[in-house]
Amino acid sequence: MVTTVTRDKHRGSKRSMLLTQTHELEAPRAIRLSDVDCPLHLRRSRRATRFSLKVSYTERMAILTLPYHVHIEEARIFLSRHKEWLKRQVDRLPKPIPFADGSVIPLRGQPHRVNFVGPVRHKGVIWIEPANGFSMAQPFAVPATPCNKYAATITAFTSDTRDLPRICVSGEGRHGSRRLADWLRNEAKADLVKRVEHHGATLGCVPKRISVRDQSTRWGSCSTSGTICFSWRLIFAPAFVLDYVAAHEVAHLREMNHSQRFWRLVRETMPDMQRARSWLKLNGAELHRFGAPI
Ligand SMILES: [Zn+2]
Repeated sequence: MVTTVTRDKHRGSKRSMLLTQTHELEAPRAIRLSDVDCPLHLRRSRRATRFSLKVSYTERMAILTLPYHVHIEEARIFLSRHKEWLKRQVDRLPKPIPFADGSVIPLRGQPHRVNFVGPVRHKGVIWIEPANGFSMAQPFAVPATPCNKYAATITAFTSDTRDLPRICVSGEGRHGSRRLADWLRNEAKADLVKRVEHHGATLGCVPKRISVRDQSTRWGSCSTSGTICFSWRLIFAPAFVLDYVAAHEVAHLREMNHSQRFWRLVRETMPDMQRARSWLKLNGAELHRFGAPI
């Protein structure tokens, strides 16, 4: 997550305490500012002593943290003072790429063109049409493009997408986006289940449950009860990256920390893990662009 923060010392707390009414403590959770192209979330914090404004790259939102008892009017003044700064940060966010007809999205790290084909059902609800010249996504294949060129590759392909393999989505166009999101989530789950089984067999452990959901801050997590959760967005990344996240969470079933022992386990089941870690560091935030609302 790329975050930019600005701070302003909280001033006039005595005055604000006097002005504060109980109902005014209930700040709206999300508001829209005119001229600022992303939602703004307000969070009251008992520990905060200052206002803190940041823009979350992955969640595409601005977050204003304010001290618990501060008057909402002070938040408004703070925001109007920093509106230009906020606008600049939001303008710098890369544009989201929706699940729309004609969009180019990566599938297991390979660019594919989305095609809403209407009421054609001869190959199921969603299928992939190969193209000349560019390979279709294969589970767990190492992509031909160097991993650090991933972002550039996606952008380059958007200029001429006719030769890309197509993800064909059948049915009414207005349901296409939802249908594609569901399909991608299922594909992610299928890949992750396979790789968790593989790494579990190597390390001698089995999770209680595997779930795939939309987590914005983590690619995977493992609870002490043995449940492993993953972000479905890993389906956009090259297969070796999804594979690494699976290996990482499986290793947590044996070591609930990031000690040297833990990293030894990850390396044991995935010797090439460093390449995937570097890839995520460099490109991970990019994966949040796809399917984001516009
Ligand atoms: Zn971890």
